[in-house]
Amino acid sequence: MATTLIKGGTVVTATGRSEADVLIDGETIVAVLAPGSVLLGTDLTAGVDTVIDATGKYVIPGGVDAHTHMELPFGGTAASDTFETGTRAAAWGGTTTIIDFAVQTYGQKVLDGLAAWHEKAAGNCAIDYAFHQIIGGVDDDSLAVLPSLVDEGITSFKLFMAYPGVFYSDDAQILKAMQVSAETGMLTMMHAENGPVIDVLAAQLVEKGKTDPYFHGIARAWQAEEEATHRAIMLSHLTGAPLYVVHVSAKQAVEQLAWARDNGQNVFGETCPQYLYLSLEEQLGASSEEWGAFEGSKWVCSTPLRSREEGHQHHMWQALRTNDIQMVSTDHCPFCMKGQKELGLGDFRKIPNGIGSVEHRMDLMYQGVVSGQITLERWVELTSTTPARMFGLYGKKGVIQPGADADIVVYDPNGHTSIGLGKTHHMNMDHSAWEGFEIDGHVDTVLSRGKVVVDDNQYIGSKGDGKFVKRGLSQYLI
Ligand SMILES: [Zn+2]
Ligand SMILES: [Zn+2]
Repeated sequence: MATTLIKGGTVVTATGRSEADVLIDGETIVAVLAPGSVLLGTDLTAGVDTVIDATGKYVIPGGVDAHTHMELPFGGTAASDTFETGTRAAAWGGTTTIIDFAVQTYGQKVLDGLAAWHEKAAGNCAIDYAFHQIIGGVDDDSLAVLPSLVDEGITSFKLFMAYPGVFYSDDAQILKAMQVSAETGMLTMMHAENGPVIDVLAAQLVEKGKTDPYFHGIARAWQAEEEATHRAIMLSHLTGAPLYVVHVSAKQAVEQLAWARDNGQNVFGETCPQYLYLSLEEQLGASSEEWGAFEGSKWVCSTPLRSREEGHQHHMWQALRTNDIQMVSTDHCPFCMKGQKELGLGDFRKIPNGIGSVEHRMDLMYQGVVSGQITLERWVELTSTTPARMFGLYGKKGVIQPGADADIVVYDPNGHTSIGLGKTHHMNMDHSAWEGFEIDGHVDTVLSRGKVVVDDNQYIGSKGDGKFVKRGLSQYLI
């Protein structure tokens, strides 16, 4: 097996930083050593196959993006990144594991939905991948199958309080699924927005001629998110199911989560870079020469971008500091403007929902370190360590320690990254939701299970490098 020494860097974990060398044997980290260690008379630098010089750089565990949708069918089209293009883009950005959502649609068998996802991903991924299971039709059949997913390495399932007629679960269905969650220890993931209410508001807006993307954000009011979050928390309390609320964007929803956590509940929340940086006014309300007010469709996602005037973004950064929100995923769900987003010209309800970010999460969150929003250690915790613990991957992923997979990023704090088309953009999209963002840092080298896949602004991995990873139960429960 090939051996690698990452030398001279600052190893950063969720709990601290130290000058250390990292020794890799094959796919695994075997030692974290005092700088320049000579062991039993062996100069490691001379003894290993490859030396990576990380002087002046951070050595961090590879990113774990726990929320992606490669090739997801949505609104008559499908997310534009395949597992091949999406995981390669992730690798470019220093993410070495994704957890994607296998989908069971209404009327379909759960295991058929899961098998279809395995088929899409197998042999195509640049980095390791795991799955959550979306349950789009909670019925006796799917409830009976749910516990067996644990043996498949799928220890979390997602329900939707939004999208009536598509993925929606009513309260009775949620209650029953949460009972299974409580019995098995599987984590219930919730898209917490009151869909029936949103659909009425959206229809009323369109009827009044308010059809631009901006009104997507008006229809999906924060009250609908707060209410659904509260309802999910109460059903979790009633059943004892551990609850993880996805893509939290409203400060009022954060207050609900904080309240539940103060109450001792196993309730968690994730947010995404778009809810930290982007807003209703600046992005959903944007206008361009090419697209007019339809420009805003680039940022149509659900939950929606929130009003900056109302201060949601500021509150979300704070929640990351106080651990009222525990981690940051992307909800990567890319659609092109041409042929996809433009399906919603004249009716914002028909715009495919999603933003592509899988490539930029590590950089965007590092910029939060530069701007003083979070510490360096918290950056690693939010983007790698907690996602690994939350979803049963910790030990192998999310940490630099002996025995862990050698998923490692060498990050240069003196480097620079310009985001946008023709600069850094490897996602399969005809635009970037992050066009013009400048990052005071740079992903220099990325190792996936010991193999260098990105180095010196070149991708040198290949599809099929990434393997399916079975997950254990959550390691984050209180
Ligand atoms: Zn969702
Ligand atoms: Zn999602």
